[in-house]
Amino acid sequence: MNSEPIEFTDMGKYNSHTDLTSNKSTKGGFFVSTAKAFILVLLAILIAVVIGLIVHFAGSGKEVVCKCSEVPASSSIADRLTECKTLAVQGNMDICTACSKGGMTMSTTTAPPTTPTKPDVRLPRHLQPIFYEVELQPHMYNDQPKTFTFDGSVRIQIRCVEASNNVTLQINKLNITRGSLLFGREGAGSAPNIKSWEEDTTRQFLIIHLDGDLTVGATYFVQMEFAGPLKDDLAGLYLSKYDYNNETRYVATTQLQPTDARRVFPCFDEPAIKARFNITLVRKSNKKTISNMPIAQSIPRADDWVADVYYTTPKMSTYLLAFIVCDFEVITETTQNNIEYGAWATPGKTDQATYALDTGVKILTYFEEYFNISFPLPKQDMVAMPDFSAGAMENWGLIIYRETAMLYKPGVSSEGNKQRVAVVVSHELAHQWFGNLVTPSWWDDLWLNEGFASFVEYMGVDYCHPDWKMFEQFVVEDLQDVFDFDGLTTSHPVYVPVGHPDEINEIFDRVSYAKGASIIRMMRFFLGEDTFRLGLTKYLKRKEYDAAFHDDLWQALTEQAQSEGKSIDVKSIMDTWTLQMNYPTVTITREGNNLRLTQKRYLRDPSAVDPMKYTSDFGYKWEIPFTYTTSIAKHFNKSDADVKWIRKTETETAIVGEGLPPITDGDGWIIGNVQQYGFYRVNYESSNWLALIKQLNTDHKVISAINRAQIINDAWNLVTSGDLDITIALKTLEYLNKEEDYVPREAARIQIAFVERMLSKSPVYGAWKKFMLSRIQEPFSRWTMNNTGASHLDSYVRSLVVSTACDYDLPACISDAKSLFKQWMDNPSNNPINPGIKTKVYCTAIKYGGVAEWDFAFEQFKTAEVAAEKVRLLQGMACSQELWILRRYLLKAIRKEDIRKQDTLSVIIYVSTHAYARSFTWDFVREHWNTIKEDFAVSLFAFSNMIGRVTRAFNTEFELQQLEEFMKSQSDFGSGERAFTQALEKAKTNIKWINQHEKTIENWLAGLRYD
Ligand SMILES: [Zn+2]
Repeated sequence: MNSEPIEFTDMGKYNSHTDLTSNKSTKGGFFVSTAKAFILVLLAILIAVVIGLIVHFAGSGKEVVCKCSEVPASSSIADRLTECKTLAVQGNMDICTACSKGGMTMSTTTAPPTTPTKPDVRLPRHLQPIFYEVELQPHMYNDQPKTFTFDGSVRIQIRCVEASNNVTLQINKLNITRGSLLFGREGAGSAPNIKSWEEDTTRQFLIIHLDGDLTVGATYFVQMEFAGPLKDDLAGLYLSKYDYNNETRYVATTQLQPTDARRVFPCFDEPAIKARFNITLVRKSNKKTISNMPIAQSIPRADDWVADVYYTTPKMSTYLLAFIVCDFEVITETTQNNIEYGAWATPGKTDQATYALDTGVKILTYFEEYFNISFPLPKQDMVAMPDFSAGAMENWGLIIYRETAMLYKPGVSSEGNKQRVAVVVSHELAHQWFGNLVTPSWWDDLWLNEGFASFVEYMGVDYCHPDWKMFEQFVVEDLQDVFDFDGLTTSHPVYVPVGHPDEINEIFDRVSYAKGASIIRMMRFFLGEDTFRLGLTKYLKRKEYDAAFHDDLWQALTEQAQSEGKSIDVKSIMDTWTLQMNYPTVTITREGNNLRLTQKRYLRDPSAVDPMKYTSDFGYKWEIPFTYTTSIAKHFNKSDADVKWIRKTETETAIVGEGLPPITDGDGWIIGNVQQYGFYRVNYESSNWLALIKQLNTDHKVISAINRAQIINDAWNLVTSGDLDITIALKTLEYLNKEEDYVPREAARIQIAFVERMLSKSPVYGAWKKFMLSRIQEPFSRWTMNNTGASHLDSYVRSLVVSTACDYDLPACISDAKSLFKQWMDNPSNNPINPGIKTKVYCTAIKYGGVAEWDFAFEQFKTAEVAAEKVRLLQGMACSQELWILRRYLLKAIRKEDIRKQDTLSVIIYVSTHAYARSFTWDFVREHWNTIKEDFAVSLFAFSNMIGRVTRAFNTEFELQQLEEFMKSQSDFGSGERAFTQALEKAKTNIKWINQHEKTIENWLAGLRYD
């Protein structure tokens, strides 16, 4: 799945750059399932410096808080916690005594109620489905969508692998037709009879009890008919609609990942349980159907119905099935290797699908060659769906996209829109191998799917558009982006135990996607490109049509490396990156001709309370592939042969420096982590930082674009963690008016946006704004708003420059924007604004305009025929400074008045972006919490994303308190739980940040004569 529901168009972003895309359970704490009748939750909270140790413990209905109010010797804290945790898991009430060891005093109080714990939801393994026959028939042929339903039948062939007297499969929100349930043995031989059946709604199980045991090795069948509602809930088989020629047309479509195939038909709905499927979709004669395979035959039935019978699928997972009943139009091409490739869209929009189709055709063949494995299906379809919760879904042979991720119209869509289409197309095609052909054994290895697709997507786009410098963009889009999230104690390991669907939904987050991709990029670097590729092919071939565990991948890569004489054990390296959360900072100290390297766990707030939901077997030490260059060597093109390993067992590594500048040279510098291939930050002695800044100010191009972005990102984040003086970070912005490359500019934009959020309510803001204006005036007059004929990346840079200029109220920017918008209002059929700058122009004109501008934008929104244009207008309308207009807008969004359900949470986020509307949006979210949670939390990513976005500027005790109170007042956050815990951790870090740095920033600005 592609995880980008929040769309920011012109910035070249298909990405949301949230500080906080997701989440982690707070109250759910530590998930344990035991054979006992109760499940225990432990929240062992370590308040390291000031308070001491608190252990929340709940079990057998008892809830106890042990408050250990004295600080124990620091070395014993970790031991105590481990001991407490073990006791809690065992349900042992001696926990408080254990806590009080080591000189800690203890008091016991009643804890606040904890969230209900999640049950174990895995299927028993005694039966193996082999073959399904599924028939589905949506009923959506009148004008009353509330009455729409679907019904169907399923017949499953199952093999018994272990004797047992029940058939247990999964079901959710379906009604089984009375009397339709049948069970028997295939071929000759007798079978036990059905004694009774029941539905366990908590575990989403359908359990059929038999009057005798099944025979190991025998094949049985189970069959039934069922019916379910067809609603606009974006999950399972759901309803989408669009208007065409003033008429509403309905579409039935699916989104089954991760656990919603069971909402469409009863099945064994786990990724490793693969089978073959014969699908039949029944439609009225004026509709079409699409599924994973081509149609084998269409059989007319009574009352104008037609049954489309599909060819049998290869062995596959249930979550990758897809079914669509629609009246879309299609354009087709054939790939070099004879795969039929179709691109579907609502009538009249297929001309916008040609770019996606061309790109898909190229990339599919490129991946076949790269992986050296042919695409196994005879056809591939892409469909642009009017309502879709994620960015896209990689259903095998039938990839479904939201319109903005697939449709592109030159002249209307921007370069950013184009890149997003290319990236999502590439991502979903990568899944056809990673995920579809070889599937993770369980959702705990989701990252194998998503991390790989998120890395390989860059390869596909780079193949089509080398001038886009995708692998440079990687560091700001993914690596630095997820550094933020993964610098929290409420992060999670890449490989993470999950059970309940809420927990599964929760890990579709930036760690699985972006950290997954970043550590795979690191691995490709230290293995070398050829070793990496050959190892991948080995892994895919070995596990095709099957499920895999991450160790299978490590083994294939290790075998490949060792066969080439490289002594690398991939598992021992990669386990340190996948089994523990967070990442290290490497500090480089110069000692004569040697470099002393030390590693330390990076945390945004080292004093943050670690919920201890996850512990580390490596003591938060990593196997780090270290590289460096210097002002003498200036060697930015490193390979695996240049890697110096910092081992997890070493606290300190000394290496003999090569190409070091003379120690007396004040301008000489060292840069660690060349091209930021490694997933770690680098810190230096302050003399080295100052030499790097001097280099940026004199001739920044001596340092590679990626490393310039790294210097900015590391400096600011080392300030947050308390490891660097903020004046160094501020100095990294001084050279910015000369920076013309996208990647370092984007890195700077993200840090500047953070500072803006922190300072927006501070008296220092005025001086900060003056400084920012001084940095943007000259670039704005150089770049201007004329984006005609700009190259892809120049268009990105211009968008950034215009954005900053208008955001900081540069008069020239505001007047240009207003005048362009006025020209459009005067002649609505002719929009004179270049797509590359539209978002900021719309925003600025509406921000400084009144209700007339807003209403004009809303009319344009309603009639816009290009989805990307609709998104830009949605963003623009969020810029109004009039609260009544914003409230009217938010109400329209939650009432779905002309705004699609898939966009509602984005509208809330857009509004919350603006300093003047932040607390207003937070109030609105709380006021309408139940509606938002019940109606819109179905989207896997958007809900967590919304929570993180709306709260991310919180930096006062008052706001923190409000957040805590709100969290206390709610009993269940569903898949938004981790987002709230992280919001809390972020708010605390922000408070600390503003308290520590406000004065220094003021002084620094005053020193530059901004006050
Ligand atoms: Zn994906």
